[in-house]
Amino acid sequence: MTLEIRDISKAYGGFRALDGVRLSMEAGGLFGLIGPNGAGKSTLFSVVSGFLRADAGEVRLDGRRIDALPAAARARAGMVRTFQVPREFRHLTVRENLMAAAPNQTGEGLLGLFLRPSRVRAEEAAIAAQVEETIRFLKLARVADTPSGRLSGGQKKLLELGRALMVEPRLILLDEPFAGVNPVLIEELMERILELNARGIGFLVIEHDLDALTRLVPRLAVMDRGRVIAAGPPEAVLADRTVREAYLGG
Ligand code: ADP
Ligand code: MG
Repeated sequence: MTLEIRDISKAYGGFRALDGVRLSMEAGGLFGLIGPNGAGKSTLFSVVSGFLRADAGEVRLDGRRIDALPAAARARAGMVRTFQVPREFRHLTVRENLMAAAPNQTGEGLLGLFLRPSRVRAEEAAIAAQVEETIRFLKLARVADTPSGRLSGGQKKLLELGRALMVEPRLILLDEPFAGVNPVLIEELMERILELNARGIGFLVIEHDLDALTRLVPRLAVMDRGRVIAAGPPEAVLADRTVREAYLGG
């Protein structure tokens, strides 16, 4: 099981945000992605997850090209992303947000309800059970009925992870999961990620908190100006001269 990113390029107008990015990881692994602001990390996530179309290059999941698929189809193939700025529905509660994140069901819509009411009810019950399990796993019971707009930064990140989990993915792309999260919740998030990883779910994690990230992932890649400039174990990568220059040179 692998995610392969091959020679991906993407321009915004005349500006090359991604310039021939190559990266591959085991879909069930833990992989970090770092780099200065503006390096193209979030853009890469958008291209890989299907929110943006690349100008050139390929994305393969388990060898199968997925770069022409819309985001929902890539999610069904097992890969979902979270956003640097959480995109929950602020007026919906935590529980409602998780419900809304469940993938479209076969019986959705009036016609399905008319033709197969019992099946629709069974699916709804299954989703509700999955929502409760996700709330329990992420320890969000206390705020399950709170409008998500009122959550703390860390709770919003947990909800983002929960929304991703509702798709039952094999690979989750996390965009700065620890940004704006207090240290206690960072540890909580790390534990949940490790537990999910032990169950076989892979993570590709963009993160500026190098201390937390290097405790989480055995391998990481560094991007600078739209390119991957180094990849490997954290100690080796962080000791690399070009990596140090990218950070210092800005
Ligand atoms: P990172 O996540 O590594 O900080 P981004 O992928 O967000 O970097 O951005 C890469 C570059 O592309 C930056 O220079 C940014 O200003 C630019 N960029 C990002 N999104 C857009 C957009 N929608 N339109 C134009 N430029 C963008
Ligand atoms: Mg970003």
